[in-house]
Amino acid sequence: MNTDYPLWIEIDSRSLHNNFNRILQHLSIPNASRIIGVVKADAYGHGIESVLLLQKWGMNRFGVATVQEGEALRQLGIKGTIYLLGGFINQEIPGIFKNHLTPALSSRDEWNQLKSAVQLNQQELEFHLKIDSGMYRMGFLPGELDESFIKQISHHPYLRLKGVMTHFASSENDPAYTHQQFEIFQKFLQNKSLSEQIPIQNLEKHCCNSAGFLFFPHYHLDMVRVGIALFGVSPIQDPSPVRSLGLSPVMRVKSRVKLLKNLPSGCCIGYGGTCITQRPTRLAVIPIGYAQGLLRRLSNRMEVLIKGRRAKCLGVISMDQMMVDVTSLPDVKRGDLVTILGSDGPDEIRAEEMAAWAETIPHEILCSFIRIKNRIVV
Ligand SMILES: *Cc1c(COP(=O)(O)O)cnc(C)c1O
Repeated sequence: MNTDYPLWIEIDSRSLHNNFNRILQHLSIPNASRIIGVVKADAYGHGIESVLLLQKWGMNRFGVATVQEGEALRQLGIKGTIYLLGGFINQEIPGIFKNHLTPALSSRDEWNQLKSAVQLNQQELEFHLKIDSGMYRMGFLPGELDESFIKQISHHPYLRLKGVMTHFASSENDPAYTHQQFEIFQKFLQNKSLSEQIPIQNLEKHCCNSAGFLFFPHYHLDMVRVGIALFGVSPIQDPSPVRSLGLSPVMRVKSRVKLLKNLPSGCCIGYGGTCITQRPTRLAVIPIGYAQGLLRRLSNRMEVLIKGRRAKCLGVISMDQMMVDVTSLPDVKRGDLVTILGSDGPDEIRAEEMAAWAETIPHEILCSFIRIKNRIVV
């Protein structure tokens, strides 16, 4: 990291380690192989270096969205199983074999393409079967899987069926729908055409994302796929579910005051003049904008911490800067530390709170900060 830059990300490795251990302890059998660390989108904006730390601490299963992400992890030195959760197009198949990724299979067409590829290179590949139990995105609808197809995919000389998974659409806020999805998944698993081909206990069965992991401990099955919780952030705008488990945020975003100025009342601040000063106002300019991942939706809503106190955003966030109100913080100087995400003194700004300001989910807040290239692991 270049410490001369006025904007940086700190990755708190102690929190990451602690989160990994807490998640382990929350499983009925605390075995690292029962966790798939979902690290798509460059580890939710934390940077893939953090995946190496997880590997060092014993994590051996990882989930990515794309072949490109899987390849980046292999190049970094990740040795364990890398699940390709997001599917693939035909052009990506060589990359799946080359990087020994474990795809989640969603269609007959994908199967046929994998089969023709394997006839050429005769390389073994493990895969999981993805069931669409009500997300209506990736995965086979249960009705698409007939006996002959199940027989075919259960006994291929090179392509090995290792697991079966599904994905919840609303495990953060709809227990009834989640239950219904779980029942559809169970019904498929108990289906005779599957159990006659392959003993069900030999398959790795999994369905929980972070919300499933947190709210449905009886659905953990053989493994859980945790993304956001691993980074100490809740899948909803309320942080209490991760707090009560002892998880803490891994990402901090810091900057410095670049400029200060005193304005009279009646000034229209920023593009479009969306904020008009109602009193003499002392304004600070902070060098972060939407090009650095600060969603423009946070304009006139978000707050930052300076000297342990809150300063509110004034006007719209521009490409590379934003303005905040420091009228009640008279001792603020140019160069002072600004905390955009993280704690300063007793106060803390969390991704959950930013998500509420921006009317989004905490996942989007974390991922947006991947644009800040200046990152340090502390
Ligand atoms: C992204 C993803 C997860 C992890 O979701 P979180 O809410 O971050 O825990 C789990 N499973 C699949 C299939 C995913 O795409």
